[in-house]
Amino acid sequence: MERPVEQWEAYARRKWASLDPCLQQKLSVAVPLGDTFLLCVPLFQPADEEFLHRLAARNWVGKDPRAALFYKEEGNKRFQNKEYTAALILYSKAVSHNSPEMSLCYANRSAALFHLGHFEDCLEDIDRAQAQGYPNRLQPKILLRKTECLLLLGRLQEAAGVISTIESKIAMDQSLTSTTRQILLRKISQLKVKAHEKESSPVSVPEALSKTQKDLEFWEENGKISSAFSSVSLNFNSCRGRHLVATKDILPGENLVKEEAFVSVLSPGKSLLLQDSAETTWDTRVTNEDLHCHRCLKQLLASVPCGGCSYAKYCSKKCAQLAWEHYHCTECPLGALLLTLGVFSHVALRTVLVAGFAEVSSLMKQFHEDDKELHKAEARGESRDETRDSTAGMEGLSEKAEPLIPGCEDDGQYRGSYQAVFNLLTHAEKHSPEHKFLCTLSIVAICKKLQESQSKLKAHVKMSTELSLELKILGEAMLRHMLQLHCNAQAVTAIRESESGDSIVADSEQVRLATALFPVTSLLNHSCDPNTSVTFSGTAVTVRASQPIPRGQEIVHCYGPHRCRMGAAERRQRLLCQYFFECRCQACLDELGSDVTGIAATGDIFCCSSCHASMQGEDVLRCSSGACTLLVGRDYLLRQLWDLRLQVRTALGLLKDNQPNQAVELLMRCRVDAENFLSAEHMLVGEIEDHLAQGYATLGKWQEAARHLRRSIQIVEARHGPSSVETGHELFKLAQILFNGFAVSEALCTIQRAETVLCVHCGPQNAQVQELQEMRACLLELPRSLLHRVE
Ligand SMILES: [Zn+2]
Ligand SMILES: [Zn+2]
Ligand SMILES: [Zn+2]
Ligand SMILES: [Zn+2]
Repeated sequence: MERPVEQWEAYARRKWASLDPCLQQKLSVAVPLGDTFLLCVPLFQPADEEFLHRLAARNWVGKDPRAALFYKEEGNKRFQNKEYTAALILYSKAVSHNSPEMSLCYANRSAALFHLGHFEDCLEDIDRAQAQGYPNRLQPKILLRKTECLLLLGRLQEAAGVISTIESKIAMDQSLTSTTRQILLRKISQLKVKAHEKESSPVSVPEALSKTQKDLEFWEENGKISSAFSSVSLNFNSCRGRHLVATKDILPGENLVKEEAFVSVLSPGKSLLLQDSAETTWDTRVTNEDLHCHRCLKQLLASVPCGGCSYAKYCSKKCAQLAWEHYHCTECPLGALLLTLGVFSHVALRTVLVAGFAEVSSLMKQFHEDDKELHKAEARGESRDETRDSTAGMEGLSEKAEPLIPGCEDDGQYRGSYQAVFNLLTHAEKHSPEHKFLCTLSIVAICKKLQESQSKLKAHVKMSTELSLELKILGEAMLRHMLQLHCNAQAVTAIRESESGDSIVADSEQVRLATALFPVTSLLNHSCDPNTSVTFSGTAVTVRASQPIPRGQEIVHCYGPHRCRMGAAERRQRLLCQYFFECRCQACLDELGSDVTGIAATGDIFCCSSCHASMQGEDVLRCSSGACTLLVGRDYLLRQLWDLRLQVRTALGLLKDNQPNQAVELLMRCRVDAENFLSAEHMLVGEIEDHLAQGYATLGKWQEAARHLRRSIQIVEARHGPSSVETGHELFKLAQILFNGFAVSEALCTIQRAETVLCVHCGPQNAQVQELQEMRACLLELPRSLLHRVE
């Protein structure tokens, strides 16, 4: 979803094709980017603006009381079915649209929060409901809920205060029927009993303090690179560019970089685009906006909606305020346009807003002056690199000082600042002219819109078609960031537990939460076989060593194409296309030098249906065992594979729909089919085993579940290695199954293995690691007699 919507992309392509060849030529060679930008400004015509406006109108980001009503009713339906999480999200959607029933929406959400056990958040929503004018006749109901929350939180005095308020309200209210009065009074006396019990056995204070202590991991900061540990150093040479190197022997699991994003934008998830019909329809799909804070990406409970739009939701009032001050006041009216232009445009805009105009214009000015110097020097016949060195010398540094590495500040420090972001490579000359045109046109569209909303504020100023000087500077900077994002955007991901029926064993998937810029992490070069693992917590990234890294070795991470996922040819093609370099990592060199083809490397191996030996060949495959003469066309096998994948997907749907019996039945059939033509190590076979384990776990058949999961682990291990994060996730599932099945000693053993592996990749604070530790503690506390009985 980083890309703009298709129609806009196609429109820009057509526009490019219709340009005068002379102008095309000019745009293709225009350097610096400022020239490209200025050439494009007059090309953005009212007709283009009109087209974009129509497209953007299909993203509904405004507030609509009818939507509030719709979501409230949908929420009520879920609430009645006891689906409290779903109800919570729908009530949050309801409060993001203003309506006269806001107070009821908040009150209903407080009920959902209460059932989910989030008492603090429940109290907040009760306050919000009351602040929005919750009807007087319903007050006793909501106050009873408040009392229960306070009691459960051990806030007895406040609870007593609320009880007396309710009592006086009941006494005053003449409209109450006698039955209602009776019910309320009975409820109050029950609560009083509860309060009394609490008083005699006070709840212990939660161990919040010791927890924060635990969060402080050992941290020895690097003197030269902020957010990096002292075990790495920043190097620069012409072939590797800027890169990080180990300054000592590093152990697996050691932290290397811990960095807060300079800027991040929540991914819109599934497209919000409505159908092209006059009829407005609301749907109940859950997207990233419903689950995560628009600013800090924290998971949302009682979300606080933006006052101006229906799509920005925040975890707290504080986050809403900070976002508004730093960028959202400008972005809010542009919401629909930004969704149309894609996340990269949005990140580019937010980058300049976060940096602030003063910072942006000072770096732009500096950049243009340096560039002039370079042109003069080139005219004198010096090369660019020499000039860079000599300008560094001219800036008053001592003569033997090493030249500054680009992005470092004058003191030689590399900070995760705007200066570092500004100096990320744009590869401006390597993007296709069409792509550059699309980016530029999108940025011009944003600038025009900004100009329009600025002049709306000052009504007396006549709207001019010429962009203001300020917007010209911001526009060029945004274009720069947009091109940088192509190679430097980092997807912020999270493991989301997918809700599949009542399964105790979680099925989880990796989801893209946001697109961000991390200037320090961006210093890492790519390898198809990396020596690091990257994890995220909110908008912060942590890079850890995933294997021993000897002193002097380069620290690398994988930009996406990993050797376990695709063959060298495909990886190199993708890297060249997106990142403009030819991968020469060890994995690529090894693979290209050997006979192993890319397909075999990714495990797409077919086997003979009669003797199970592997099949070999290109278009027609032949059984490799001499005794057998079977011949099969590759197309036929690929079709079979396709059909099998469809079946597996259907089974997964059944699991999600809480029909484990049917799912297991179908998966067992898939397994037989797979054995007929796929090698036993094929990833699809592993997936089938994994899903079978999940199905059996849902049915409470722990032994069967464990048996299938062990097979899945074997396949994952063979492909990714025994200490890979992928194996770690599978071991975690096995630990859950064994734990639930009371297979104590094997569970303890698996917990240990899973913990070791996951700790290296995800650190000790990781949710799964913590859960493993809880499982262990729980098993060790079991009485001895029970241990013997169940085993
Ligand atoms: Zn937040
Ligand atoms: Zn807003
Ligand atoms: Zn490679
Ligand atoms: Zn055979």
